Order: sequence, then C-alpha cells, then structure tokens
Amino acid sequence: MSDTPVINKCTPLPWQMNQWQRLFEAKKDNRLPHALLLTGSAGLGKSHFAHLLAASLLCNSLQETDTPCGVCKGCRLVDADTHPDYTLITPEEPGKAIKIDTIRQFTQRGSLTSQSGGFKVIIIEPADALNTAAANSLLKTLEEPVDRTVMILVSASAGKLPATIRSRCQQYHFTPPTATTAVAWLNEHVNDSDPSLLLSLASGAPLLALKYATEGALAERTKMIEELTGIFKKTDNPISIALRWSQLDQGSVVKWFSGWVIDLIRVKIGSESAAIINIDQRERLHALSRKVNSKKLYALMDRLFEANRTLGAQLNTQMQLESLLLDWADIGVE
Ligand SMILES: [Zn+2]
Repeated sequence: MSDTPVINKCTPLPWQMNQWQRLFEAKKDNRLPHALLLTGSAGLGKSHFAHLLAASLLCNSLQETDTPCGVCKGCRLVDADTHPDYTLITPEEPGKAIKIDTIRQFTQRGSLTSQSGGFKVIIIEPADALNTAAANSLLKTLEEPVDRTVMILVSASAGKLPATIRSRCQQYHFTPPTATTAVAWLNEHVNDSDPSLLLSLASGAPLLALKYATEGALAERTKMIEELTGIFKKTDNPISIALRWSQLDQGSVVKWFSGWVIDLIRVKIGSESAAIINIDQRERLHALSRKVNSKKLYALMDRLFEANRTLGAQLNTQMQLESLLLDWADIGVE
C-alpha cells in the first residue's frame, strides 16, 4: 500500500476539459447557471470538479481559463472548508440521508447571499441522499435563485433525484475517459500496480482505480478469489471464510464476489475473448467454467444482486455470507 497520491486541485482532470470549457464560456458570457447537477458513475472526479468550480468562483487570483490559483486566501479557505461563502453539505454519516434541517440551515434567504460581495457556493453531495422533505425544501430555493449564488449538486445516481430538481439544474455529465488517457493518468499516480487491471476492475473510472490501488483492494480481491477457489476445491471451509468476510467492508465483498460470478458466466457462455473484469484471472476462469453448473451459477448471481441491497444492513451478515458461500461450494454439482 502506498500513500494517497496528490491530485492537482487547481486544474480539471484530463477527461474533464470539455465540461470545464463549457463552464468557462458560460461564465464569460454571464450565463453561469444558478444550479448545476454533476452526474456520471463514481470515480470520474465529479467531487474534484465541484471543488474546482467552487475554488474558481472564490479565488482572488484566477489563472488561465478561470482555474483557481490554489494559494490565495480564498483558495486556502475553500480548501480548509472554512470560507464564509462556501458550504459543503453532506450526510452526517456516510450512507445516511441529508435531512431538511440541514438544507434549511444553509438555504434560508439571508444565508444565501455572499458575505464578501462575490459568489456564494453550495455543494450538495451526494445529492441523491436528500430525503423527500429536504428535496422539497431545496426545490423552493432552486425556484427562486439568488444572484451570484451557485448550487452544485453531485450525484452518481441522478435517477434517484426528483425530476423537479433535475429539471432546474443544468446537467454536466461525465463519462469514463479513453483507455489511453486513463492509463496515462493512472501511471502518473501509482507506481507498483497494473493500471489496466485496476481500470478494468473500476469499469474505466480512473479515481476509483486509484482508490483500489491505494487501499490495497487488489490484494483483498486476489485473496477472496483464492478463497473461492479453495472452497470450490474443498480445501477451504465456507463457514470460516464467511466469518473472515463478515469482518470486511460488505460493499467490497459483494462487489468482488459478484464480479467473479459474473465473469464466470461471461466466460461460460461467451468465447475465448469474452469481456471480463478480472482480466488477470482469465485462465483460472476458463478452467473453472468447465466445471460449474450454469443453472446454479445464475441462481447465485441473483442471490448476490439481492445481497447487494441487504448485506451489512442486517444483523445476520455472517449467516448470509455462510449461505452464499455454501451455494458457491455446491456450484459444480449437477
Ligand atoms: Zn486563488
């Protein structure tokens, strides 16, 4: 595991240039939207972009194409999250809702006006965490925009937002960069991992790939694949593996486990060159695919999709994992 690499906060990421240019033009023409909605899957740098825009609106010494300088008082206060005209609204705890009191606190008429006569910037992230009451409260604010106040909503699941909110925001959508761009960028930020594998596991999202590299996710995934292989060969005990897995982050457990099962299905029904995400495990997947029962594989995949919703949220995580791994142990039996 290496230290978290530093990403330059003062420029758009290489695959965000079009969106930045669009904003720059809008600002130049005095058409800067009052509300923006940044969408696209996780790991594409939407937060980075939101922060960059906030800093550029509050920077006292703008650079070319309106990027922030990173060193002036405005930039430093935004960076420290203490700028009086900058507010970042997030759930109190990750995964929890953003409540109406929080929205009211920051969107009351008086608090929407800049203290310094410049811009006021509010970032709401993730915006899909707004509960119904909070969303309704925000909607009122969006319906009566305040001059020079910019709201930036960030969401990887924009479909969960009420249509009334979406329609009042100008949408900026982010898509994964080309493999060449992503690999080049990743190579600048990680040194001891395989960028192609990381990107494949991250569905092409560079920041997610970077997160995997710095959090030791690759090693954890490889260990889980070894354990699944061991259970299949009856050299590992599903019950003790379930106990170990129950101590891990359940989101990752389901992601790697279901990714493995989906790859196996793809290889079983596809050709030699079937598109898989565990690209370093192609041989093992092919060997295994000849020994597993398709029907049971599909049934397990359904159970894993269901587990994606419930695992970790219930008290019996370990029992659920035991049940899933016992199904896996049985996957080869006709
Ligand atoms: Zn600055």
